Amino acid sequence: MDNDLRELYQDVILDHGKSPRNFHAMANATNNALGHNPLCGDKIDLFLSIDKNNVIQDISFQGAGCAISMASASMMTEMLKGKTTDHAVKLFHAVHNMFTSSETDIKDCSVSEDDMDRLTALSGVKEFPIRVKCATLAWHTLDSALNNKKS
Ligand code: ZN
Repeated sequence: MDNDLRELYQDVILDHGKSPRNFHAMANATNNALGHNPLCGDKIDLFLSIDKNNVIQDISFQGAGCAISMASASMMTEMLKGKTTDHAVKLFHAVHNMFTSSETDIKDCSVSEDDMDRLTALSGVKEFPIRVKCATLAWHTLDSALNNKKS
């Protein structure tokens, strides 16, 4: 593994990739979406339980894919549990910006220091354009899930 790749697979990503948090199905989910990254073969099935005050009471996922896609999804669930859907949307846009432009206006969305560390680890992926889709898959799936209420 060369140095760049070593940097990409920082400890935090490896850790989350190896033992993803909130990795299970959810029987009482209010929102659900399936995400697929055909470039790499990553698949994520995302579950949300959102209460009437638009607070994400629970969030979990299942799926299979590379360490980056699993780590990204795992970190995302940790960042969003207990947060409002408004916050989730803001974070989605911040992450999207982080990967698609040279600027990061992540400060605008009241991200905690812990979350910032997670996103910074993930942002190393920018050096490898083909892996960006792996890193953003969970977030795009989140966007779909927020708009996909189960009847
Ligand atoms: Zn991948």
